[in-house]
Amino acid sequence: NPATILARQRQRESAARTYARTLPIVPVRASGTMVLGADGRRYLDCLAGAGTLALGHNHPVVTEAITSMLARGAPLHTLDLATPEKDAFTDELRGCLPAGMGSDVKLHFCGPSGADAVEAAIKLAQTVTGNQTILAFTGGYHGMTAGALAVTGNVAVKDPLPPSTSVVRLPFPFPYRCPFGVGSGRAPGPDGAELSARYIERLLDDPAGGVVRPAALIVEPVQGEGGVVPAPDGWLRAIREITRRRGIPLILDEVQTGVGRTGKYWAAQHSGITPDIIVMSKAIGGGLPLAVIAYRSELDTWAPGAHTGTFRGNQLAMAAGHATLRLVREDRLDERAARLGTRLLTGLAEIARNRPQVGDVRGRGLMLGAEMVDPTAAPDLVGAHPADARLAGLVRAECLRRGLIIELGGRHGAVVRLLPPLILSDEEGDRVLAILADAIDAAVR
Ligand code: PMP
Repeated sequence: NPATILARQRQRESAARTYARTLPIVPVRASGTMVLGADGRRYLDCLAGAGTLALGHNHPVVTEAITSMLARGAPLHTLDLATPEKDAFTDELRGCLPAGMGSDVKLHFCGPSGADAVEAAIKLAQTVTGNQTILAFTGGYHGMTAGALAVTGNVAVKDPLPPSTSVVRLPFPFPYRCPFGVGSGRAPGPDGAELSARYIERLLDDPAGGVVRPAALIVEPVQGEGGVVPAPDGWLRAIREITRRRGIPLILDEVQTGVGRTGKYWAAQHSGITPDIIVMSKAIGGGLPLAVIAYRSELDTWAPGAHTGTFRGNQLAMAAGHATLRLVREDRLDERAARLGTRLLTGLAEIARNRPQVGDVRGRGLMLGAEMVDPTAAPDLVGAHPADARLAGLVRAECLRRGLIIELGGRHGAVVRLLPPLILSDEEGDRVLAILADAIDAAVR
């Protein structure tokens, strides 16, 4: 009985650990973009394991990779030993990394989560430079472990803990709400992204700027949890130049944006920048936990054993990940994400056109968001109305009633987010838009 399972789990786990996940569903089976609940209802899944399921649920190439590994009796855990599964996975992953990383790019299995890889990236940069301070951005999200949490921007999620890593927070260009975004299409004035880059440069060079020899700069090419805010390509190139000239390693967090999600295999490829360290997780494990950092060989300064862990790299996840990476490459699912993403973003803009409660729509590829606002309240200094998290929560509930699973995010939890599998069909995309429009109308009523 789904209601009993839900109630029991709330008591035993969710309540004790203050889980945010409150969808009243008990998933029992899933295939492609669909999830079947224990109540017999089918849901179209636009959350997809928080973006881990690039190929959707139980894609045949992934289940085949896992079951055949089990059938042939391959070891499930081998620590650092070389295995055919690891060989195939690393070969595929190296082959698809941005070209500028160099042919001798290093891969380091962290894991099992994205936050573990962020920790490794920070620690590596601190080891290399001998410095402690990390430059990070407003609205950034990098995970929940101590170091990853320290570089995360949203103070609401780190209330219980003081950050353990010294962080200098820099302004991320966010046209809709941040003055540094003014001019990016919304209001006249100097281009906000350029202002942001110039401000960062000034801050780093100002003896009174308060930045003590940074160990690294960490940035998401599209902020996900921060409310689906794409970094302008020119701004990212400026950040790359600023960090290169000052010898500051650039860490690009592609945990959510990687593996075709934004319309290129890696989001870095939109701007053409080459980071010093790329943080990867989510989709690279094909739905199983896996996290890796890739870094330029010059940074390879860790002594043997300097960064270890029992569950660095999971054999089943490597098999599932290898199958996923290969299919995304062979079937050009990045291009499909770009095409379908444009179609969906156009549809979202259409939804927003005559609904003042949708303040902004934005995104890149199949990483999309619509910010819910209260149009009756006074706008802020750049003309945006206050975020309306309550309305966003109602929209999510109305979507669920209509068989659509979506996620919320953003600085105030008011951004409705879509992270569908890359295999979503055009027809399913149209259904998502139709349901969302209905759900917003019902929520506003
Ligand atoms: N970085 C980014 C950009 C993320 O979106 C996330 C997770 N949403 C993380 C890091 C942390 O990954 P995990 O939840 O697997 O620790």
